[in-house]
Amino acid sequence: MADCIFCKIIKGEIPCARIYEDDTVLSFLDIGPINPGHALVVPKAHYATLLDAPDDILQACVAVSRKIARSIIKSVGADGLNLLQNNYRAAGQLVDHVHFHLIPRHKGDGFMTGWPAKSYPPGELDKVLGKIRENLE
Ligand code: 5GP
Ligand code: ZN
Repeated sequence: MADCIFCKIIKGEIPCARIYEDDTVLSFLDIGPINPGHALVVPKAHYATLLDAPDDILQACVAVSRKIARSIIKSVGADGLNLLQNNYRAAGQLVDHVHFHLIPRHKGDGFMTGWPAKSYPPGELDKVLGKIRENLE
């Protein structure tokens, strides 16, 4: 993908703070970190979202994510870590090359403090559950 910023990083056309790479996956520091050590894990092949990438590629990304997560937690003395993955604009995806955020967390750091949980109106849970089961492929 000629105009994809992560493809450019993968090809070395744009520099990055590289943490790790193998034949399938690259990990580098996010240029706009939520906290120091915030990293991204991306497949080297271009897929726009989680829905587009094949299972084996995603499995490789998750395995590398765990490896990097361990190192980040140790390196920055994090109290926790979020693995975050955005798909489509409505969910906050700005770069259309599937990626996993590894965000080290510290008590009281203020990130994602609210989790606006809702409840189902009567009958709604079963309706949604039925549709999701029907649409499984
Ligand atoms: P999204 O909102 O798509 O899930 O996240 C995209 C992330 O990519 C953002 O956190 C942003 O800071 C990061 N990013 C965008 N451009 C660059 C870049 O050129 N280099 C690096 N290292 N990170 C980038
Ligand atoms: Zn790309």
